[in-house]
Amino acid sequence: MPEPHATLAGRALAVLTWRRTHRWCGACRAELTDQPGETARRCPDCGLYVPMQLSAAVLVAITRPGPTGHADELLLVRHATGPTGLWALVAGFVEAGETLEAAVHREVGEEVGLPVNRLAYFGSQPWAISGPGVLLAGFTARAADPRAEPVVDGRELTSARWFGLDALPAQLPPAYSISRWLIDATVTAARR
Ligand SMILES: [Zn+2]
Repeated sequence: MPEPHATLAGRALAVLTWRRTHRWCGACRAELTDQPGETARRCPDCGLYVPMQLSAAVLVAITRPGPTGHADELLLVRHATGPTGLWALVAGFVEAGETLEAAVHREVGEEVGLPVNRLAYFGSQPWAISGPGVLLAGFTARAADPRAEPVVDGRELTSARWFGLDALPAQLPPAYSISRWLIDATVTAARR
């Protein structure tokens, strides 16, 4: 779907899903009413204000130097659920009280057991497909130990491996996703 329709459809999907799943007051169980002029609801009995909430998630393109004379390498992972054939980036939801950067370090540690450095913000994308209001924040980073290999837990991820930037697999995230923009930008930056 071309822009600006894709953005509009994504917002519509997010708002409709949020309205369907936020019908009752979480404090006193009364039925919420719409707050005129806002994407928010309010409880008529106890006054609880319920703004539409976003879930922040991070994803990160981690690179390391390739073997001498070869291109840099990018870490890609395969998930146990969802599109299991896709080679994707390490990603996860931000926890309460956490910065985006801290979430990247924690997720990378949990999912593949690697320390990273040179974390840099890349950009963001609202993502209506996997929840009522997910905001994706993309980062690039370098592997702190260029010789370290990823270790997956076998539950959330089934595999993780380094790919040369000149030999990426065909099963990459779709062209409309920030995952793919990050991967493509990493390839372009390595060519310079
Ligand atoms: Zn209430």
